[in-house]
Amino acid sequence: MFLQASAAINQEDYSPYPNKLMMLLDIMDNLPRLRLSEAHFKLILWLLNQCGVTHVPNYSEFRRMQKGLDNRCGSEPQMFKSVFNNHFYVNDPKEAIKRNFANPHVASHMNFYPEVTTGPISEVWQCERWKEFDPSEHTPMYSMNGKQFYIEEVAILKDGKLVIPVSWIKRNGELCADSHLVTTDENGRWIRHLEDIIIVPSSSFQYNYLDLMASRQGELIPWKDPQVVQEMPYQARKLVPEGYDLYDVYLSTWFDDVSGNQSKQYNKHFVGYAANTNLPGQLLQQEFFVEYMSNSQHASSLEQLSAIKDMVKETQTNPILCYNASTGRMCGVRIHISVLPADNPQQAEEASHMGGNANCLCRKCNVSSSLAAMESQNGYHSLFTHVSSIARSASETRERLEAQLEAAIIGAKTTVKTLQTETGTKDKITQYWIDRLLAKRKEMKKDKKKKDDITADLRKWFAEEPGDKMNPLLDISGLDPTQDTPVEILHTILLGIVKYVWYMFHTSLNDEQKNLFVVRLQSADLDGLAVPPLRAAYIMQYRQNLIGKHFKTLMQTMVFHVHDLVTPDQFELIKAVGDLSALLWVSEINNLDQFLDDLEILIGNALDAFAMVDPCKIINKVKLHLLPHLPSDIKRFGPAVRNSTEIFECFNAIFRMCSVYSNHRAPSRDIARKFASMSRMKHIVSGGFWFEDGIWRQASSKVREVLVIDPIVQRHLGWRPYQIQTGEMKPLARAKTIPQRWTDTKASSVIPDMTWPFWDENHTVVAQSGDVCKKGSWVVVRLDGSAEFHIGRIVELLSASVAANGPSHIPASLITIEKFSLGDTRHPDFDMPVLYKPEDKLYMSVETKSVQFRLSVQHDCRIHNCQPLGSKRVVQERIMTENTISTMVHANDTNFIVNMHGLHNAALVRQLLPRHLTVPIQKHEDREAWHKEQAIKVRHLLVDKRKEKARKSKETRANNKQKKADREVEMASARQQNAQVEEDSEGDSQAEESTVDLDTDSDSEAEMDTHSRKCQRRK
Ligand SMILES: [Zn+2]
Ligand SMILES: [Zn+2]
Repeated sequence: MFLQASAAINQEDYSPYPNKLMMLLDIMDNLPRLRLSEAHFKLILWLLNQCGVTHVPNYSEFRRMQKGLDNRCGSEPQMFKSVFNNHFYVNDPKEAIKRNFANPHVASHMNFYPEVTTGPISEVWQCERWKEFDPSEHTPMYSMNGKQFYIEEVAILKDGKLVIPVSWIKRNGELCADSHLVTTDENGRWIRHLEDIIIVPSSSFQYNYLDLMASRQGELIPWKDPQVVQEMPYQARKLVPEGYDLYDVYLSTWFDDVSGNQSKQYNKHFVGYAANTNLPGQLLQQEFFVEYMSNSQHASSLEQLSAIKDMVKETQTNPILCYNASTGRMCGVRIHISVLPADNPQQAEEASHMGGNANCLCRKCNVSSSLAAMESQNGYHSLFTHVSSIARSASETRERLEAQLEAAIIGAKTTVKTLQTETGTKDKITQYWIDRLLAKRKEMKKDKKKKDDITADLRKWFAEEPGDKMNPLLDISGLDPTQDTPVEILHTILLGIVKYVWYMFHTSLNDEQKNLFVVRLQSADLDGLAVPPLRAAYIMQYRQNLIGKHFKTLMQTMVFHVHDLVTPDQFELIKAVGDLSALLWVSEINNLDQFLDDLEILIGNALDAFAMVDPCKIINKVKLHLLPHLPSDIKRFGPAVRNSTEIFECFNAIFRMCSVYSNHRAPSRDIARKFASMSRMKHIVSGGFWFEDGIWRQASSKVREVLVIDPIVQRHLGWRPYQIQTGEMKPLARAKTIPQRWTDTKASSVIPDMTWPFWDENHTVVAQSGDVCKKGSWVVVRLDGSAEFHIGRIVELLSASVAANGPSHIPASLITIEKFSLGDTRHPDFDMPVLYKPEDKLYMSVETKSVQFRLSVQHDCRIHNCQPLGSKRVVQERIMTENTISTMVHANDTNFIVNMHGLHNAALVRQLLPRHLTVPIQKHEDREAWHKEQAIKVRHLLVDKRKEKARKSKETRANNKQKKADREVEMASARQQNAQVEEDSEGDSQAEESTVDLDTDSDSEAEMDTHSRKCQRRK
């Protein structure tokens, strides 16, 4: 066979690949961001042949080799048929989890236990969500060198005490068991002390239940009260073979409709990905960890989720058996779905909700924005709040859907509608059955059967029909789609409230104001914001079609450039939205309680600012009402940015390319296969294990080192080795490096007696936070061991010039900072901390490691009235043109503002500055009273609107009636005339033809045109 032949020729071991060339070709063919078409690939093979490379496979040989690898260490998509008879293919999430465990790079990062911590919160397992699961649904054991300590089993501690662990929990990083003590009474009977929970570190455990029973030679434990102990050994122990560990993994699943075309023509696919949330959030922001599940042009997300639900559920009784590469031991794994990130319409669908346009607009609670609800002032106020007592729940939704089905069975069509509009609960799968039931009933009525008999027959038929009768997500233990669809910040904040603000702003500007804003925005100092370069003119030109990244920049910079362009209310709104957003992109929360308090104030301010500008917006836009739900989501799932769907949206680009290069005959299968092939390659080269010939194998070291040493492969696979050298300076290009005398540097004013004579300027320096800072960057500096900090602007990055001769000892690199003083009070308009230059210019020269992090600082153009008086020549095609554009000229270089809307390092800035400079200030003292005042306004507006609508529709009805009457009169007279004409000249075809000609519409005209052109060509 070809494989062995090639392998034999090659001296080096590239197993499982036959040789190096095959490995490289397989990597190239499976690069996620660089998809190759069949034609491209054949061209590469041709090129290799032309260059005289030996052992170049032909195309089909290569595909055969890949297929062989898929069989050995990959997986094959599975076909499913949905309840609506749609066919689609799924890449089993169980296989993805199996690969996670069998990959040493991934397995070592997984966490299996909920954590209670007093430190910063950054991961979902540190929050409430994981703790909501029953202890039996978390990893129920701790494994010590192959000895498993399960919950609900007696174990012996090192000090000889007996305990029964109730739950395994990490406490500040250390794994502990919340346990009950077990003692014996005077009669030798064993007593479980349920009254007290004692916390036992995992390191204190010595013998497990099996050891205990072995020592008792099988003699049963004489419990004093057998009712309070569960059956031992613990049931879950029996789910896996003896000696195997047992773990629980929580998946997040993401679904959306994505176009499978590169062009603008929409080609809708429902696509689903998953992520293993036992991995740290930081890793989950990388494409490497996104797992493709399924796609279909026909089956909706709920139909696909139904298949996935079954796969996941199966693991509860039949755990996946995996090799855990981090422990080197076999284990069983159960999967749960714990969170459903997606955009708002998708999340509403997953929560069996009608969506944001319904009267009951919220998928998470039963608040209503109907006019009836608005009648009471409390109704309006409730839209600003999160009230847990009116939260929806999976069981409530199930009951509502059952009521709708029941109404359909008895044929009450209008009742179904009322039930749906009154609750906002509507489900795609249930609706399918409702429609079938109603249609069937109509059909059955024709047989003249009794009503009750029809109902009984229908009920029987419905019960016997196979498949899901409602949303499959309502049937997953531990999952409540109404609550586990956390508010997602990309769609709710950037493409939601920031977009509203932007729309409100740009539609109020005239052309001159637009130009002024463009000049101002272009002059914004982006250093310290970690955003891509800004094209203000482009943003204004395409203001209606901006995407997430534009809104991300606008939300952090806009507030400094809108003075004299907006009303005071609009300014307050821009400010409030910027203040709020900065907290939502924080990935680590230091003090959760304080954070949530702050967040609540900022959400309140943002909503009130919206209500001030347009009080009706509150009842029209569900994205505004969702904001008050954010704090409880953060409490449950951790920082909001952890549930951002940005990474999944990015992954869509890979999906799209797979779709474009499939032959479109079986897109669901072909795309699933391609993703399976990509995962397989990733698994092999990143050192994952697979089971073959009775052992767990790994690729040879030659294959594994490709990912470690080859930056090209690393880059294309999205593999980012984390290595930053803090304090390191990057030199300027050699041509730009001109040594300068120490006496010419600014640093010499601070250190006059430097002996090293010549110094070089450098390009960048890496701060302690990993930020890359350059000349002009605003940074925070802290001297070794000192609590005191300074904020300033980098003016010099100096390193001793080794080209010149100097004393033998080379001094350390130095950074010169132009120091600014932090104001004691906040800026009167922005409420942000201010910086001003001290009277006498103050430099400080520090070592590179003193630079802590970069921050965003903006000039105070508002108070100092900076004008667009400068001009700059425009560069086109890298050439300086004659054209110029205006630029801002700052009135001074002394007054600056710390940009509290910046997302980058937002948490660090807030930790650093005195609290009184950053604490949020609530705008309305008594918000409820203020909302009630606004409610009256809204009601008047709504009533007026309703009256206006009624008046208009009355007018339209009258108009239509009049038109109809007129038409009838016309037709009657036409009929009369026709009758007259027919009588006058029978069969005058010439006349008829001419009328047809007059009626010719543009289409047939065009047709005639082509026809005549064709005729001419023929001539
Ligand atoms: Zn709500
Ligand atoms: Zn300015």
